[in-house]
Amino acid sequence: MRAAAQDAFSADYAQARARFVTSAAEAGLLVESKAHPQAGLQGEELAMDVARDGHPGASRLLIVSSACHGVEGFCGSGVQVAALRDPEWRAYAAAKNVAVLYIHALNPYGFSHIRRTTHENVDLNRNFHDFSQPLPVNAGYRELHSLLVPPEWPPSAANAQAIGAYVAERGEKAYQAAVSGGQYEFADGLFYGGRAPTWSNLTLREVLRTHGRRAGRIGWIDIHTGLGPSGHGERIFAGRNDADALVRARQWWGGQDGKGITSIYDGSSSSALLTGLMFTCAYDECPQAEYTGMALEYGTVPVLQTLHALRGEQWLNAHPDAPPALAAQIRKEVRDTFYVDTDAWREQILTQAREALIQAVDGLAA
Ligand SMILES: [Zn+2]
Repeated sequence: MRAAAQDAFSADYAQARARFVTSAAEAGLLVESKAHPQAGLQGEELAMDVARDGHPGASRLLIVSSACHGVEGFCGSGVQVAALRDPEWRAYAAAKNVAVLYIHALNPYGFSHIRRTTHENVDLNRNFHDFSQPLPVNAGYRELHSLLVPPEWPPSAANAQAIGAYVAERGEKAYQAAVSGGQYEFADGLFYGGRAPTWSNLTLREVLRTHGRRAGRIGWIDIHTGLGPSGHGERIFAGRNDADALVRARQWWGGQDGKGITSIYDGSSSSALLTGLMFTCAYDECPQAEYTGMALEYGTVPVLQTLHALRGEQWLNAHPDAPPALAAQIRKEVRDTFYVDTDAWREQILTQAREALIQAVDGLAA
């Protein structure tokens, strides 16, 4: 994952998928493809692709996944391709008897269509609930919904003013929490968690049952973008609110003082407190394993800009007949919000990812 590996990042989903499949094949790995029921933005085939580097019966398994949030896959796919092309990294994991499972495009639909959500309009990282139980209520979102997804785009001056007034009055953190905290009421809204498991949810569980049931210890790095300072990879603890798991994650990834990892449970993360998170399926599907995970969340642009771009995208999703130039502009804005297309940014991404991967292997092997 040296600087020379910068062509690991792709310009669209189809290219990203081809690079992943080719890099895995060149590394001598089989790729297992889970075909998605819908087509991509250019009509291409969509799939969740899985490559395992290491023994099928390995007791230590590191999962590296991309595109939980579709469009965020521009970053995560690059990390995976660079890792597959990095013989030193691969030898390091092999020498410590850690198998590495690369899951490319958890949400291939969103990656291809430049959406954060799945084809069900669901935020995959809010979709892991026991749907037989009552779902969380997000009163803050309910209050904002009609403003967030207005009838026209760009929004009217009155709409912009109302959103501005909300942020000025309640603060940016409260706005972010209300919008991004997840909601189960408005199927056509933002950060909708769904009312049933999505295709990606069910398919990921199948992958975990196949690959995770023989492991005594599982580590998981799930790559995201869109929160925090540009190029900085925030390491957000992704596990139950359990002291032992947090201590372990701090030992692996927290640095000397353990503060290098943040948590949504104590307010130290740039992410709001969330429920329905994807990592919970590691506990469900691999109950035999000691699980330790994090979301590696890379910063791109300020959060208000991110939320604005997502509002436009939500409008576009409800208006498929929008003028092509406006549609293209909205998609470009969304992509630029979740992926900074510069060599300097990509280099920061790969350097920090490689460190986190090595630390995970050390942690698993300890
Ligand atoms: Zn994300």
